[in-house]
Amino acid sequence: MNTAPPQAIVIVGAGQAGYWGAHTLRKHGYSGRLVLIGDEVHPPYERPPLSKQVLKGEAEPASAWLTTPDTLAGLSVEFLSGRSVSVLDRHSRAVELQDGTRIGYDRLLLTTGSRPRRLNLPGENDAPVFYLRDVADSLALRARLIQGGRIIVIGGGLIGLEVAAAAVARGCTVTVIEAADRLMARVVGPAVSAHYAHLHSSRGTEILTGRIPERFEASAAGCRVICSDGSSSKGDLVVVGVGVVPNAELAAAADLKVENGLCVDEFCRTDDPNILAAGDVTNHFNPLLGCRLRLETWQNAQNQAIAAARNMIGDPQPYADLPWGWSDQLGVNLQVLGAAKSSAESTTRGDPASGSFTVFYLEGDRILGANAVNSPKDIAVARRLIAGNIAVDLRKLSDPAVPIRSLLT
Ligand SMILES: Cc1cc2nc3c(=O)[nH]c(=O)nc-3n(C[C@H](O)[C@H](O)[C@H](O)COP(=O)(O)OP(=O)(O)OC[C@H]3O[C@@H](n4cnc5c(N)ncnc54)[C@H](O)[C@@H]3O)c2cc1C
Repeated sequence: MNTAPPQAIVIVGAGQAGYWGAHTLRKHGYSGRLVLIGDEVHPPYERPPLSKQVLKGEAEPASAWLTTPDTLAGLSVEFLSGRSVSVLDRHSRAVELQDGTRIGYDRLLLTTGSRPRRLNLPGENDAPVFYLRDVADSLALRARLIQGGRIIVIGGGLIGLEVAAAAVARGCTVTVIEAADRLMARVVGPAVSAHYAHLHSSRGTEILTGRIPERFEASAAGCRVICSDGSSSKGDLVVVGVGVVPNAELAAAADLKVENGLCVDEFCRTDDPNILAAGDVTNHFNPLLGCRLRLETWQNAQNQAIAAARNMIGDPQPYADLPWGWSDQLGVNLQVLGAAKSSAESTTRGDPASGSFTVFYLEGDRILGANAVNSPKDIAVARRLIAGNIAVDLRKLSDPAVPIRSLLT
């Protein structure tokens, strides 16, 4: 490892994590050369509004910008937008852009994010099939979500259900096709899945679980999705939300360790000490949970990048957050905290029929995680109970008449 203070730092990927990396370096006194390279044409921005306010037409993409080119210039950040890095040359410590420009670095931060997993089913290229990742995707889809439209969503996870909710808000009829036997199975327990199935059904959305799409058939009127059990659904267009793939090819081609994401330790270091990484692209070690994780969340993109930036300039910070994410669907807020396992013991606080409740996942008298539906206060307290490894009285935890804050004492 080169132990001298870095004179040149390059950040590849100008999304949420890339922005926080650059911002943190300057905030913590790094005054050397700083280059932020992104292949999108926009300033760094946050993606959550793309499947919510922007898709519904309640906000424009600029509301999600994290900064402006002028502000970056004011911080002496060389912001190269619309430029893609095609080669990482570790030997010469340089990155190469698609046009052949080479930029040297002492330290490199990889924040290349992830991209939607493609279905690549027969007939897909001829059918009106949409994926959602960036501003252009959101605007293109929004233009097609028109009153009376018939939308098929493949994937009943967070993105798919947010698209379904936005489509309903714009007056469309929606069918959701999910391969698993329940919605959002990767992130919430069965009771919360059931609640959301009911919520979406009550707004007219058809929820089809246990169906595996096999092919598309395009027609003048739109397209048909045919599933492996022979059933089919017809719509004007299809939106696919079946997970993401980390953009780790650049790192893999440079022989950095990639296994379900670019592998980093709790200090955001890859196996090359001059290269760190943060955000969706990483598979990182979480010291709080004692295991490796690949997360696709706003919190992870921001906080892991802050830790990485500080580590790059000799201010060692382990990245040790409890995983947390949220989703907004049909006016209902869902928050997911910790390493909730649907197989763990659980207890529910509040009545799902009231529309506001929290499922706590437990090991004995310790909380492992929580899924909160319209109950943000429960998450705030659960965060402190987990962080402090505080034993809880399960009877009080599940009794909404007992103020949840009293469990902290
Ligand atoms: C529609 C949508 C809604 C979401 N909603 C939520 C939510 O409600 N709650 C939540 O917690 N999380 C949500 N997320 C997830 C969250 O937005 C991501 O976890 C976060 O954006 C990850 O940030 P990142 O910087 O790691 O990656 P990204 O934001 O993907 O940024 C990476 C950037 O690097 C660029 N890049 C890649 N390779 C190169 C290269 N070789 N050269 C130059 N540039 C490159 C990419 O094009 C991209 O601009 C949502 C995501 C999406 C797509």
